Amino acid sequence: MADSYDYVIVGAGSAGCVLAARLSENPATRVLLLEAGPRDTNPWIHVPLGYGKLFNERRVNWMYQSDPEPHLDGRRIFTPRGKVLGGSSSINGLIYIRGQPEDFDDWEAPGWSFGELLPYFRKSEDQVRGEGPLHGMGGPLAVSDQSEPHELCDAFIEAAAQAGHPKNADFNGERQEGAGYFQITTRNARRCSTAVAFLRPAGNRANLKVETGALATRVLFEGARACGVEYLLGEKKVQARAAREVILSGGAINTPQLLQLSGVGPAALLAQHGIPLVLDQPDVGEHLQDHLQARMVLRCTRPITVNDDMQSLWRQVGLGLRYLLQKKGPLTVSAGYAGGFWRTRPELKRPDVQTHFLTFSLDRMGEKLHPFSGFTASICQLQPTSRGFVRIRSADARAAPAIQYNYLDTEHDRRTMVDGMKLLRRILEQPAIRPYIAAEHTPGEKVRTDEDWLAYIRATGSTIYHPSCTAMIGKVLDHRLRVKGLAALRVVDASVMPAVVSGNTNAAVIAIAEKAADLIHSERGGGPS
Ligand SMILES: Cc1cc2nc3c(=O)[nH]c(=O)nc-3n(C[C@H](O)[C@H](O)[C@H](O)COP(=O)(O)OP(=O)(O)OC[C@H]3O[C@@H](n4cnc5c(N)ncnc54)[C@H](O)[C@@H]3O)c2cc1C
Repeated sequence: MADSYDYVIVGAGSAGCVLAARLSENPATRVLLLEAGPRDTNPWIHVPLGYGKLFNERRVNWMYQSDPEPHLDGRRIFTPRGKVLGGSSSINGLIYIRGQPEDFDDWEAPGWSFGELLPYFRKSEDQVRGEGPLHGMGGPLAVSDQSEPHELCDAFIEAAAQAGHPKNADFNGERQEGAGYFQITTRNARRCSTAVAFLRPAGNRANLKVETGALATRVLFEGARACGVEYLLGEKKVQARAAREVILSGGAINTPQLLQLSGVGPAALLAQHGIPLVLDQPDVGEHLQDHLQARMVLRCTRPITVNDDMQSLWRQVGLGLRYLLQKKGPLTVSAGYAGGFWRTRPELKRPDVQTHFLTFSLDRMGEKLHPFSGFTASICQLQPTSRGFVRIRSADARAAPAIQYNYLDTEHDRRTMVDGMKLLRRILEQPAIRPYIAAEHTPGEKVRTDEDWLAYIRATGSTIYHPSCTAMIGKVLDHRLRVKGLAALRVVDASVMPAVVSGNTNAAVIAIAEKAADLIHSERGGGPS
């Protein structure tokens, strides 16, 4: 006999933890939360800069590779995704950005305008700067300032001003444009993932069961109605029944994979893998969007970067002590310390590129820091028009799906990335930051023309980890996030976005999950939670 619950949620990531906590607030509602990864006991998860240690940690990271990217010189793009309680919010760069109001308004989906989502951003937030019309206090998700300023970041923000870009003390305030410090999801200098923020406080509820090491292999159907989930606990096959709904929160790569494995997807693809068809839905897994980023690495004239800290054992001990005793220093910092949102052309109404400014440098994330004093500034395109796909390669749920981003597929995207990199270099040429730059390590002086820049982006560009849109509202889902054409099956995660939001995606996913919980409550006749 399969165990029975009201809701079975697949994936304890950014969205899944929010949903599990909100839906189990009612003690009469039985919730099962399935997570393929382990509990979040790896200590590096909880130290903000520990982020770098998790890139190659297979126990908590799916570590996907894209297929060869046709417009990035055929390179495969390494794609980390959290596989642990908290999901990607346990391994991400901690930056708290909501996106631009127009992102949500442009979705043109009833109920999903920015005005309608703002109460959910506010509800989730515990803003260190206090409450305001655009910010909430007392929510589960701690939003903090960086523990201290850094002179390199100050110089970058000043240089941006010299290049004509305003300073911005709050990227989630009245306007996104400008340069400033990022706010981050930490509390007392420890990561505030959704597992920490939402799941832990709900952890002792008798009506919530969290099953880790549980890989969902397919959704079970009775006719067109989802009635449960089959999953693997180690080698053991287990079934759980869902009296009300199955909710998929596996993220933008795994959710379409699981739908396809369950018979919901493009009929030809499913037939190719011998999967019985439940619903021919050609859009499942299609329309994948992400933010492409390209980086510049600068050699620094002074030994004030994290690279320098890591060269010396004494400095490393000092960092550890500062972190433990004062909750300050590089270990408290998110990967992107400061940054900015810029318009590549003055006639644009809103920023179309973002910079992440890092006080360290390396060849690839997760690898060793450079042996010289170095820092990094990058550009990512905020509103890409290129779209890719996620498609199963096998009927075995343990096999990674094919992922293709198709970055730079459109002239618009190529133009924006090239203009963004030129804009970034102009900032780095300003007097405020020049004294800190010994040399441009990459791309270097040889890159001058638009063609040079495009070649450089093709040769080095990579993900900034925001895949979305693979089960989007409108095509796959109705505006209440229910899979169209089926009953009792909902998707709540980054897949639902019709277009990726303009900025880091964690906050938007959390707000989407907060709203989904209210939709579910209201369908049951209860008021908003
Ligand atoms: C390295 C990295 C850095 C990032 N930096 C930032 C940042 O600084 N700021 C920001 O806002 N955003 C950042 N992001 C993006 C952000 O974290 C994600 O957009 C967000 O966490 C996605 O939430 P989700 O709920 O869609 O999926 P996830 O949080 O990825 O959760 C999906 C969960 O489902 C589980 N799962 C999947 N399939 C199954 C299955 N079949 N059975 C059981 N469980 C399953 C997974 O293991 C995972 O725990 C980053 C992401 C990464 C990977």
